[in-house]
Amino acid sequence: MKLPRPHTSARTFDPPERCIYCGKPGGEEGLRDEHIIPDGLGGRLVYAKASCHACEKITSAFEGRIISQAYGDTRAILGLRRGNGRKWPDEFNVQVTREAEKIDVAVKGDELPAAVWLTCLNHRPLILDNKPVSGNVKVDLALWSPLKDYQDRLAALGPGTVSVAKRYRFDEFFRFINRIAFAYAHASLRGKFSPLTVEYILRDRGKWITRYIGGDIIGRPDDASHDIHELYLAQIKAHGLTYVAVRVHLFALNDFPAYVVIVGTENAETEQPTGAAHDVKDPGSWTKVNFERFRAETVPHPRVRFRRVPDE
Ligand SMILES: [Zn+2]
Repeated sequence: MKLPRPHTSARTFDPPERCIYCGKPGGEEGLRDEHIIPDGLGGRLVYAKASCHACEKITSAFEGRIISQAYGDTRAILGLRRGNGRKWPDEFNVQVTREAEKIDVAVKGDELPAAVWLTCLNHRPLILDNKPVSGNVKVDLALWSPLKDYQDRLAALGPGTVSVAKRYRFDEFFRFINRIAFAYAHASLRGKFSPLTVEYILRDRGKWITRYIGGDIIGRPDDASHDIHELYLAQIKAHGLTYVAVRVHLFALNDFPAYVVIVGTENAETEQPTGAAHDVKDPGSWTKVNFERFRAETVPHPRVRFRRVPDE
């Protein structure tokens, strides 16, 4: 099966003058262009000169691990760009454990059973309900594949246990989601909000996840961009505050799960962006979300729940 080559809207946002993460002007080394969604995932939204060298070092480290470990095979079968101009190999090794023996089975790209372990969050970001940080929320870990013939590809490997998806750190994964959400909100709103999650992006504080990131409480908007990835800005009112939220839907075309990140609160200086060069219509839109509209069933269910080919 040949998949269509994905595309994403391209856009470059004007530079913010200071690093969006630490607020410093960049020093001698200057500020670097920030890919809002990584280039390695096909992201074409660029925030010009938005990150200082020190912050870029931090964010690119966990981002590099996530795109290679979590999304490596998915990127390969979708033909997404690889770093340093490298091409994807013609053959991949899949590890199969057969009769207690680990063997590497060479497969062609169109036979590779690409999949990624992803958590599906089922809670609202706890900050919206004024709840403290908690590790006690339900997460659904499941295997997601962009392939319709995923089971056939697994079966074609023969009997045995197949290692189909690589491990990665979930705390890093959510820092990565958080960074995408924050950079997009900052670029779209020209930084006119009070950020809540920058500490969490720059430092390893995994327990913060549940406070600021939750399941898809917004749902796919009617005017979704239908790009491979979709980002969507929303305004959420709760207990007297107006929060700035971003719905992050990576591999939206492939029905992977979406997350909602609360990136900040509106402050007095916030202006609703209107018209002109910096409106937020493309690819996201500014939407008012009414809390009562949240329904548990808007959280998508995993499509693929198995990982093993049964022994014969
Ligand atoms: Zn910085």
